[in-house]
Formats: sequence, C-alpha cells, structure tokens
Amino acid sequence: MSLVTLQEMFDKNINGGYAVGAVNVMNQDMIRGVIAGAEMVNSPVIIALAEAHEPLVSIEELGPIMIDCAKRAKVPVCVHFDHGESYNAVVRAMKAGFTSVMFDGSKLPFEENVELTASIVKIAKALGVSVEAELGELTRPEGCEDEEVEENPDLYTDPYKADEFYKRTGITALAVAYGTAHGVYAKQPKLDFDRLKLINQLTDAPLVMHGGSGLEEKDFHKAIEYGTKKINYFSNMSYTVAQEVKRRLNEAKGKTYYTDISAWSIEAIKEDIARTLTMFKSNGKAW
Ligand SMILES: [Zn+2]
Repeated sequence: MSLVTLQEMFDKNINGGYAVGAVNVMNQDMIRGVIAGAEMVNSPVIIALAEAHEPLVSIEELGPIMIDCAKRAKVPVCVHFDHGESYNAVVRAMKAGFTSVMFDGSKLPFEENVELTASIVKIAKALGVSVEAELGELTRPEGCEDEEVEENPDLYTDPYKADEFYKRTGITALAVAYGTAHGVYAKQPKLDFDRLKLINQLTDAPLVMHGGSGLEEKDFHKAIEYGTKKINYFSNMSYTVAQEVKRRLNEAKGKTYYTDISAWSIEAIKEDIARTLTMFKSNGKAW
C-alpha cells in the first residue's frame, strides 16, 4: 500500500475500535523508523510535520521525502501537516503534496475559527486533501513541551459546539481538548472523559487526541471507545530514543561514527512505534 489521505483511513475504520497513530518527524531517520515500526505490526500510520518544527526543517525540504517514503511503504501512510496556525503554511503544505493538513484556529474566537477553517476546507476539497481542525485549547502548545501544565477546563472543548463546528466547516477530523497536553507529562493528567463521551454522543466527527505521550494504556483505550480515531504521539518517542542512543554511546567499545547513531535511532524508533501502534490497537489493520 502507499500514500493515502486521512479520510481514506477513517473510511476503513467506520466502526472505530482502534486509532491511527500520527507521529511527528523531522528527518529521514525518523521517517524510516516510524514507517518500519508500522510495517513491523502491519498498521496504517500517519507521519506528520508540525509548523512549530519548521525552524528545524521546512515543508519544502522534508515534504517530498515524506511523500516518497510513504509511496514506497508496505502499509498505508498518510502525510500530514500538524498544527498549521497560518493560512500560508497550510496552503504551502497542500502545494507540497501533503494528503492531510491540520489548521489550528483553536486560539481564535469561535466564528473566526469556523470561517478560516471552512475557507481552508474549500481549497483542500478541490485538491483531495483531508483537513483536521481544533475546537478548544490544549493546555500546552506544540513546541513548548517543557512548560508547566496547568489544568484549565475553561479551555476545553464545548461539547455543544462540536457538531456545529464539524458541520459548518466540513472538516475530516476534529481535535478536542479535555485535559491532554503536548510533551511528556510530569504527573498523570486528569482527563475529562465524561466530556469526551458527550462530544462523541453529540457529533459523528472522527475525534483526534493530541498529547498522547505518556498516558496509560487504559486512557488510550477509553479515548478509542469514545470515538477517537487518530492519536498524536511524539515526545515520548523522542525521549525514549534519546535515552537508548545515550546508553549505546556509553556502552560502545572502540570507535563510534555518526552512521552508528543513525542506525541505532532508526531501530529504537521502530521498536517504540511498533509497541505504541499496538497499544492504539491498529496492528493488523493495514489494507
Ligand atoms: Zn497537537
């Protein structure tokens, strides 16, 4: 299989029961490791580049490599643009051939978020690109992983606005806020699952969980039960892989080369992703 859209992934998962993992990548080793991990457990996967990571690598630089690797993968791979906050960046991602984009207007007032998201959906539909958007705010934005997290239910998704937002914008997927945060958690967060359950009851929108690093397996399973079909995952993998490379560097005898670090990284990412996708219950769901 190969390059697919987010919509195609949801079409294969109408009844739920699992979520597809979306993993942020910033270089070729990460792309290779993530796809290898998905292939190992025969799972669809989403590789994502976040606008917050553009100072490290641009859409135009990494996009073509992501797309090429997706096309050659043995499992379905969606190439996604994560947390696009500017109209400009989201349109650039579509131009580069991403099959899915997230427009994050979560900080905007409701009407403005609806209006801007709908205008992006209009372009995306013409190009066959899927769109994710967000209602409610995550407690810690992407790229600010080390900041302290404070629970603030005032920022969580209003369940009674979710369906209106979904229908008026025409989006493919709805990212919701109910207590998760980006980055690795210092302590277990309190997740408002009653809110998620209600959102799921009030709308048919496929739901997205952001901030999936370091939650417990039962939290993921509960989120899946309540309509979550995409889970964003990154910081935990980034941290785990760095620890593994550190350990191998310390234990290495004789000369070590940069290519060794690269190979260790790919291997560690592969293992972590295979384990994570299995936790999201998407193993064996490739088509
Ligand atoms: Zn996110």
